[in-house]
Amino acid sequence: MPALKRDYVSIDDLGNEEILALFKVADRYNEDLKAWSSTCAGSILATLFFEPSTRTRLSFESAMLRLGGGVISATEGNATSAAKGESLADTARVVGGRYADIIVLRHSDEGAARIVANYAQVPVVNAGDGAHEHPTQTLCDLYTLYKEKGRLDGLEVLLAGDLKHSRTVHSLAWALARFEASLVLVPFPGLELPDNVLERIRRDWGADVTRADVGALSGLSQDKDAVYVTPHKPHQQSLFTAITAPQVDHIDAIYMTRLQKERFESEASASENASSYPKLGPKQLKEARFRETRVMHPLPRVDEISYDMDLDPRAIYFRQAELGVPIRMALLAFLLGVIDLGAPAPRRKNLPLYSSAVGLRCENVRCVTNREARKYAVPEFHILRDVPALLRCVYCDGEVEPKVVGHAESRRLHRGNAAESSRIRPERRVYFVDDAQAQAAGFGG
Ligand code: ASP
Repeated sequence: MPALKRDYVSIDDLGNEEILALFKVADRYNEDLKAWSSTCAGSILATLFFEPSTRTRLSFESAMLRLGGGVISATEGNATSAAKGESLADTARVVGGRYADIIVLRHSDEGAARIVANYAQVPVVNAGDGAHEHPTQTLCDLYTLYKEKGRLDGLEVLLAGDLKHSRTVHSLAWALARFEASLVLVPFPGLELPDNVLERIRRDWGADVTRADVGALSGLSQDKDAVYVTPHKPHQQSLFTAITAPQVDHIDAIYMTRLQKERFESEASASENASSYPKLGPKQLKEARFRETRVMHPLPRVDEISYDMDLDPRAIYFRQAELGVPIRMALLAFLLGVIDLGAPAPRRKNLPLYSSAVGLRCENVRCVTNREARKYAVPEFHILRDVPALLRCVYCDGEVEPKVVGHAESRRLHRGNAAESSRIRPERRVYFVDDAQAQAAGFGG
């Protein structure tokens, strides 16, 4: 293993050039999947899956076996000590101690993989953390798209369906924005891309978010209006006025997602949505602008892509699943330090980090710091903006606007939107959601 372990918890943990270099390795592996059985001989992969999975777990296990390594697996929460109350941190210490050389984790709490990465001595891969991210599915998606289109830069990709809960969409949207793609968002009403996902695209990559005219998308949406996300280029600015929404007349790929029923509060509200959920098939793709469109889906498909789409050459969803093996082989070999990608690691965000056991907590109830790890994880945030204060949770990317900022020594309080608060050095600041929380912690008065 390299001296400094690399985890793959978020799509941001790999740089663009590293991703392209992984494709080259995957291409080589894919020429003959059976020719690499000594590449990772002696290494052990642990797959810890606390949520259902078919493709992700099996393709990781297949990838490791093809590389000549071994696999140990815990696939049901109630078959592990989690059912006895063991924490993720303790599981990570044990499995990531001497049991395995790399861990792949799927868990329902957002940020769970970050917790495991913090406590395991070995690399950790996020195979889906609640509705937050699924960065290895994104590698499969990008790799397939790259092979189909010959490039990733500047593609026009339409994301449809349940954009709110689809973790594959969140990681993919972030990745595509980094490759300067334009995103056309056509959500099922009420299941729009979460604000923090969109905001991160805007803030971190300077993308422009506007409305676009998508024309009739029968089957996908009744609405002609879509959210349009483009790489921020000054010369494009003038197009995006409120009066003339740009027309979307060419689509490189449609990424369809299923209704993520398991993320709804109740079964009743999930089935209410299911009856009018969109359906995509060749009938909906007759216009000229869809001639070169690739139809993608992370699978499993339920009813949102008709079976007659399978024979259409534009359908590439089974290819996405197939390429999951070589691309995951490349990722495992890289994280285990067996191959060098010869590409720079991503530049770390230049944002100050803030953490405190007192005061502000992430407001996302599904964040691991409010659930499984509440007892032991100290909330941690990136400071996005000083005034008015705006922070982003390191674990789940949830954004929070604290109303009050205290001085750790004088214990004086300032409004989060007052300039004085920014004069407190970041390491002396203590953020509070409101006055009551500050006073309860002995600040102000
Ligand atoms: N298999 C993907 C996931 O685990 C997509 C899905 O389940 O809809 O997120």
